[in-house]
Parts: sequence; structure tokens; C-alpha cells
Amino acid sequence: MKEKPLPVPDRDSAPFWEGVRAGELRLQRCNGCGSYRWPARAICNHCHSFDTDWLAVSARGTVTSWVRTHQAFMRAFQDEIPYAVIQVQLDEQDDIQMIGRLADPGLEPTIGMRVRADFAPADGDPPLVVWHPIEQL
Ligand SMILES: [Zn+2]
Repeated sequence: MKEKPLPVPDRDSAPFWEGVRAGELRLQRCNGCGSYRWPARAICNHCHSFDTDWLAVSARGTVTSWVRTHQAFMRAFQDEIPYAVIQVQLDEQDDIQMIGRLADPGLEPTIGMRVRADFAPADGDPPLVVWHPIEQL
């Protein structure tokens, strides 16, 4: 098996990956206006505050777009194609959209499908966020 690239936490994203290791989906929440930020960054898009905390969120959302990958752009993923990559609008805030893999590669995603984040072991650390239909949990 070829080695897969793993996320490399940086100053802004490290708390997110600490949450993933703990089995929680955590987002930055602005202390200036209360809105969530994704992806993690230093300044709020809404009120320009630098003041933020990290909170565990519901890890639930709705599929707003998807694509089925049939071509492995890296050899490490050759044995896993085809699989579905989905865009998930989190329940906490309409403009928070996460991209991730639907855990069951044989499942056909649909727009409006309700999903929940889960944390799958990767070939290294940290684990990766994958999504399951809520009905399957
Ligand atoms: Zn703000």
C-alpha cells in the first residue's frame, strides 16, 4: 500500500485536529459576534474580531453537493475508488460547509441526505473525518 498524505495541523487548525482525536467535531466560534468559522482562521469574516473559542458542535448536517470519484489522482487511493465526496452544510450555521468522504463507498449520496460525522482511523495520525447517513447509525 502506498503512503497516503495526512493532514498537517497548523497554528489555526490544531484545535480542530485535537477535537478529531478526541472524537469531537470542533469549530471556532467568534467571541465578538457568536458566528462559527470554517475553515479555521485568525479573524472573523463577519465582525473582524480575533477573539475566538473552540466548541464541540453537533457533527450533523445536510448534503448540499457531492461527486463520485472514479480516478485516483494519487496511487495511494487506487484501491479505494470509486468513492463519494460530499459537501455538508452543518446544522449550526448555513455558511459552514465541510467537504469529506461518505464512509460507505457503495452508498449513493443524495442532496438533502442527513449525515453525521464520524472519525475513522487513518494510516497515521490524526484520524480523518468521514460521514455516515444518520439513518445508518
Ligand atoms: Zn465575529
